[in-house]
This record gives sequence, structure tokens and C-alpha cells, in this order.
Amino acid sequence: MTNHAFKTGESREQPSLLPPRIEDYVGRNNPIRAIESFVGALDLAKLGFRHADRGVEVGQPPYDPADLLKLYLYGYINQIRSSRRLEREACRNLELIWLLKNLRPGYRTIANFRKENWKALKAVNRSFVLLVRELGLVGGAVVAIDGSFFHGDASKASIFTRKRLAEQIVDLDREIEAYGKSLEDNDAAEAGHRTDGDGDGGGGGGDLGAKVAALMAKRSRAQADLDRLEANGETQLSLTDPDARLLAKNGQALVGYNVQVVVDDKHKLIVASEVVNNSSDVNQLHAMAIAAKEALDAEALQVLADTGYYSSTELKACEDDGIVAYVPPPEGNGRLEKEGRFSLKDFSYDGAADAYTCPAGEQLRPMKGRWKNTSGRLEIRYASSNKSCKTCPLRAKCLTPKASRRTIGRWEHEDVLERHRARMESAGELMRRRSGIVEHPFGTIKCRAGYRHFLVRGFNKVRGEWSLMALCYNFTRVLNILGFERFVAYMAAKTLAVCQYAFAAALHCIQLVLEAFRIHIVPRLTISRLAPLARLNQYFLPSLVGQIADFVQRART
Ligand code: SF4
Repeated sequence: MTNHAFKTGESREQPSLLPPRIEDYVGRNNPIRAIESFVGALDLAKLGFRHADRGVEVGQPPYDPADLLKLYLYGYINQIRSSRRLEREACRNLELIWLLKNLRPGYRTIANFRKENWKALKAVNRSFVLLVRELGLVGGAVVAIDGSFFHGDASKASIFTRKRLAEQIVDLDREIEAYGKSLEDNDAAEAGHRTDGDGDGGGGGGDLGAKVAALMAKRSRAQADLDRLEANGETQLSLTDPDARLLAKNGQALVGYNVQVVVDDKHKLIVASEVVNNSSDVNQLHAMAIAAKEALDAEALQVLADTGYYSSTELKACEDDGIVAYVPPPEGNGRLEKEGRFSLKDFSYDGAADAYTCPAGEQLRPMKGRWKNTSGRLEIRYASSNKSCKTCPLRAKCLTPKASRRTIGRWEHEDVLERHRARMESAGELMRRRSGIVEHPFGTIKCRAGYRHFLVRGFNKVRGEWSLMALCYNFTRVLNILGFERFVAYMAAKTLAVCQYAFAAALHCIQLVLEAFRIHIVPRLTISRLAPLARLNQYFLPSLVGQIADFVQRART
């Protein structure tokens, strides 16, 4: 039973009830301590963070990159990405006050850290993949690749294609012509007024002239942009973000980037990723598979991808590098089947005889020379004999009315595709697993965290921001899989090992200096000073050097 209708807050006049120590602001098992332990174990100078290896210098010291990295990790894990919001949270969020020890960096400092350290952020992401490997959280045998569009910091209106620029120039020409005609009419009217003797000469011609000049300048800019596009072979010009592109796939169109990820099947962790600006995934298979193979340090790797990645040259490159790819071939438009004619699958290839056998049992033999097909692949053509086709009862289902024989093009590395086709026949279960593996990160990042767009512009910065998103996805997932206590204990052991090594190295340096002093400096000292130093040389220094050597040995073990 309560005397109040509602829950009531505390009096604002009451003295602070916050714990007196910042350490008590967060509990012993608060996940924020995992961020602290992870960043504490990183060698930020080696990873390339700005100011990480700075010594004591004159002037205002900068923020420690470790503190700003902690701030970003906390922010991206908790759906706080903007530098202004991070600045506000650093002042009022008890977890952040604990994490930053009450430091309050301004939004410019926060934003600049993300822009300036894009390469180091990528390196942290890679180092986390090494960590999950050490922890045994990746299988390293089967991975899945996929891509997803993310909005860039640009609108559709900021993108100009050649077609759009050409249309703009036509529209501007029309407007200029219309204004030119108005100017002529205006001049004629003014001339008429002057002849009548009652004109004042102010018919608005000056305004029209300025408008025409502005239109001419706009037309010149559009023409220069069009010339630039034609000169560099690009198809789009992006005015706001130079690297963002208008991307379209499956009815979805947006201005931004195509994020490619490779996900390990054991715990659905991202092991490699890249940001590109092509709509198509077709040329990404080999590059992404190689990146994953290196990240996992795997001898052999099975890679699963959807039809969008199918490319004969990419499949060959994968096979050459020991990567077994599973990519469903596109169905094609089935033109020959629609016409009721035999297609390639009705002809069987005999490797020993180097010939195709047609449905009528006749052989198609290789012709001399090589032909380059429309996609640039070199092909060998196989042809049936005119004599066999002339009398063949299946002729109507095989040839066009004008053709006298059937020819089939075979890529010079067609055996790669044949092995791939054979693999795909028994890959139903693997392909069903593919979507479950690779769509987990995108679903989590886009739907749970709500990250569908980048806040920065240009490839470098966008890649840095993506590294933060991928790192936070992996970080959260590892905490869920491993548990907070095991993760923190592992990171603490790692940090201790680094400290022990650094301590041992420092002691070893001191040992070397003392030894050099004892051997080279002490014997050269003058006789008057020799007596006490001789004792030093005889008893104290050897003993000290020996003790340090013993300490170094123990610290290393
Ligand atoms: S038309 Fe020629 S190639 Fe075609 S099935 Fe008959 S014999 Fe074979």
C-alpha cells in the first residue's frame, strides 16, 4: 500500500547520491569494461593511430587515441554515431564518464579522429579478426560472401550521368534561345518607342542579359562535366561525395556504396570486408575470397556466393589460388529452348576425343584458330559436318533455316566450369546454408543497429567508418558467444604478456648499459677515484647485472 498515486522522483535539493568514486559508476560485470580491456591490449602506435607514439612536447597535449577509440566503440555499439551526440553523451552518460575518466572531447575532435584514422580503424578491425582466430571462434573452412547497398552522404540530385548532363545541356540551350528571342523582341520594342519619341530606354533588357549570362555559365559547367566524364570513361559524376554512385539492383536504387563481406560459418563473424561503388558483385568473388583466405591463414577454403558473383574468369582465379567456389550459374534467357532448338546442355563433350557429340550422335570437331567472344574470353569453336547436318532428321530442332551446320564455342578454360558444374550438382545443402551465414551480419547491422547510411564522404573515410561498424558487430557477437568474464580474462592475460615483455626488454637494456659501464668506463677512471669504483666494479656491478639478468629471465617466463 502506498500513499502516492504515482512513482515520485527524488528532491533536486538532495545532495548527490552518485558514488564518490568514478570507478563505482559501473558494475563489475558491465560490458563497458570489455571495451576498456580490449583497447588496453592494443598497440595503437603499431596500428597507425595519430599521436599514439607522441612524446612529451610543448603546447596543449592532444587526447589519447585510446580514449577516442573507446568513445567510438561505445558509441557504435550503442547506436550513437554522430560526433555531436557523442560529445553530449560523454558529458552525461555515466558509462562514458567512467570509460573516458570524465574527459569531455568536443565534437570537432571526435569527428576528426574518425576522419584522420581511417587506415588505423581498418587495422583495428583486422587485428580483431586475428583475436577471434586466437580464440578459436572461426572455423576457417567455409565462408560466405555477399554485398549490400548502404546510403552515402549524398542525394540522387547530386549525381549526374552522361545522359542527364546531355539532357540538361539541351534544356539550357532551349532556355537560352527563348531568352535570346525575348531580348531581340525587347530591343525591337525599345527601337519602336524611340522612333515614336516617348521611350525612356528602360525595357528590362539588362535583367534578361544577366539571366542569359547565368544560363550560359551553367551550360559551360555542364559541358565541362560531360567532357570530363567522356575523357575519364566514367559513367557518373557525383558532386557531393566524389566516390558515391547511383546503385541499382532488384528494383532498389540509392546513392551510396556496395559493402562486401566475407562471413565465417562457425559463428557468423565477419572475417574480411571491402567497400566498393559498383552495383554489380560480379568481379568481387576472387578478391574477397583471397582477403578471407589471408585473414584466416587457411590453406584451402570453400566459398559460397549467390548468382550475382558468377563469372568464369573469377572462378578460374579462385581455383588457381586453391579456393573452392560454389556459385549458382545464372539461368540465362533460354533463347534456344524458347525457339524449340537444342541448347548446349544437349551436346556432350568428350575430353579424350576433344569433340562434342550432338543429339543425333554426330561429332563436332574443333576448328583452327581462337575467337574472342563478347566478354573477352578466348574460345575454340567446334563444328559439325555439312554432310551430316544436310540429311539429319533433327535438323529443324538444331539449326536455323539458313545454317548448314552447327557450331559451339568452348572457352579455353572450360574444364574449370565443368568441374564447377559437377560440384554444384551436390551443393544443395551448402547453398541453403549460404544465406543463413552471410545475411546475419547485414540483418543485424541494418535492422538491429539501424546503420543503413554512412556519415562521412569519400572512399577512405567510408572504409574507416565501415571498419567501425564491422568491428562493433564482431565485438558484440564475441561477447555474446564467449561471455564477458572469459573475454575480459583473456584480454587481461594478453595485456599482462605485453607488459611483461616490455618490462623485460627495458630491464635487458639497463643490464646492457651497466655491463658496458663496468667493462669500458670504470677501468679508465683516474687513480684518485679508483678505490671506491674498483669496489663497485668488483662487487656491486657484477652482482647487480646478475640480478637483473635473473629478473629478465623470470619476467619472460
Ligand atoms: S543438325 Fe547436325 S549437329 Fe544438329 S543434330 Fe543433326 S547432325 Fe547433329
